[in-house]
Amino acid sequence: MADEPPVSPDPNTAAGRDGDDPLDGVRPGDRRSFWLRETLASEPPELAAAAAAPQLTGSARVDVAIVGGGYTGLWTALRIAEASPGTRVAILERDICGGGPSGRNGGFVTGWWDELPSLIDRFGEADAVRTARELDKAIATLGPWCATHGVDASLREAGFLQVSAAPAQDDAWAAAVAACERVGEADRWRALTPDEVAARVRSPAFRGGAFMPGAATIQPAALARGLRRVALERGIAIHERTRVRGWSAGSGGGPLTLRTSSRRGAGRLEADQVVIATNAWSAAWRAFGRRLVTWSSYIVLTEPIPDRLAEIGWTGSEGIADARFTLHYGRTTADGRIALGGGGGRAGFGGRIGRPFTHDIGSARRAADGLRRWFPSLHDVRIEDAWGGPIDIDDDHRPWFGTLPGDRVHFGLGYSGNGVAPAILGGRILAALATGRANDDEVASLPIVGDGATPRAFPPEPFRSIGARVFREAILRREQAEDDGRRPPRLAHAISRLPRRLGSHLGPE
Ligand SMILES: Cc1cc2nc3c(=O)[nH]c(=O)nc-3n(C[C@H](O)[C@H](O)[C@H](O)COP(=O)(O)OP(=O)(O)OC[C@H]3O[C@@H](n4cnc5c(N)ncnc54)[C@H](O)[C@@H]3O)c2cc1C
Repeated sequence: MADEPPVSPDPNTAAGRDGDDPLDGVRPGDRRSFWLRETLASEPPELAAAAAAPQLTGSARVDVAIVGGGYTGLWTALRIAEASPGTRVAILERDICGGGPSGRNGGFVTGWWDELPSLIDRFGEADAVRTARELDKAIATLGPWCATHGVDASLREAGFLQVSAAPAQDDAWAAAVAACERVGEADRWRALTPDEVAARVRSPAFRGGAFMPGAATIQPAALARGLRRVALERGIAIHERTRVRGWSAGSGGGPLTLRTSSRRGAGRLEADQVVIATNAWSAAWRAFGRRLVTWSSYIVLTEPIPDRLAEIGWTGSEGIADARFTLHYGRTTADGRIALGGGGGRAGFGGRIGRPFTHDIGSARRAADGLRRWFPSLHDVRIEDAWGGPIDIDDDHRPWFGTLPGDRVHFGLGYSGNGVAPAILGGRILAALATGRANDDEVASLPIVGDGATPRAFPPEPFRSIGARVFREAILRREQAEDDGRRPPRLAHAISRLPRRLGSHLGPE
């Protein structure tokens, strides 16, 4: 796919900070993420070798073909192997498994209790609660799964802390906390006083907060590559560096045919069922394009600073995010670094995933600025890495799963930047759909599955990306002003509220 034009300098942060470059000269996009480099470096040669997951050439036949080797595709394949042994499954991945966001995300494993009001708004109370509970159950399977399969993904079950980092963010969690109390799940998401927040981590920017004890963090690439290893051990065929260019239905109920390309040439894979697990890349497929806006998210990683973490009291390993719409999210690593991400990236155009998703210095700087704002005392700490990736935002701000007309192509998309935990659930849902067992697994009847879960369509291009860019500028200006204790410009404030006023589940009130 073609790249977007080069990114213009960001007026807020990109240009001319000689001597005060928060990125310390690190440039995103030059190499794979720290997480993935770390994981690949420790992989046994026989697993890392191209022969373990060869490019597809010629023709092959399977029962289920899965497009995309991130968490969604890998969990789906493993669930099929577990629930329907003997099913022939192949994964087709244009890069390497975990080469996409599954190998470079922030590693937050979070539930949906903080989003309960919008889940209730969309699906009603009983179904919303059932969905949030199922996601918690999925999270609870992660530790045992890693232990059983010898996957060391640095899972740390220390919870998730949302903080207010500006007066405008105060009590952002109040409605969700009240909703959890009302449905008898008060322990899942509870408000913290400023002192209780400070007992977990000290920042001059932090005020009150809320805590989700059932959440965790992981080393994301270790999980993705661990899933790949186990999939190979289960006999699942994986074809890396193999791009699916399209599919066509066979005549008279014959198999579907996926057309692929790789450096070694074209290939064809016939399958009875297909699962599309291509996350943000799905926005380029006609079937999904109108339901997704692609957006970039960037992370910066510090040098190891365990002593400095102790100074600010951040020793409990909880993941932390503020309550901006363009949120900052930070977590610590096993070797005492901080990885801090910023959601203030850019909207893409028409499903193209190009350099702005990986090489945007302005967005990486915004993440680094967030680190300094949260923890000014760490201003001298070196940034050692920075990287970005695409997220797939839909109008509901949560994923949906379903089957295209014809009943043989299934999909799971729209994670909206929160897919680590939901993809575990998604793999189970998609496995049930692809093997005709939807009636046997209760998660296939969750309200996030099927036509009723379809999010509203966004306007067609170019209006979609123009609208997203105008919204982004407005929300950044609004939230920057709120961070600085200034009154947001009126126009920016009004535009930032437009999506909600138009009935969307996106953006602030
Ligand atoms: C910087 C960043 C930070 C994030 N932080 C968090 C976080 O802390 N917590 C959280 O829950 N979520 C986070 N996310 C989101 C999370 O990473 C995703 O929701 C999750 O990884 C989705 O998994 P997936 O398997 O659906 O998609 P992906 O990991 O994107 O996998 C899709 C795969 O499909 C492949 N593909 C695409 N098109 C084709 C094709 N035509 N043929 C073959 N293969 C194809 C891609 O190469 C890719 O590997 C973050 C995302 C980013 C970018």
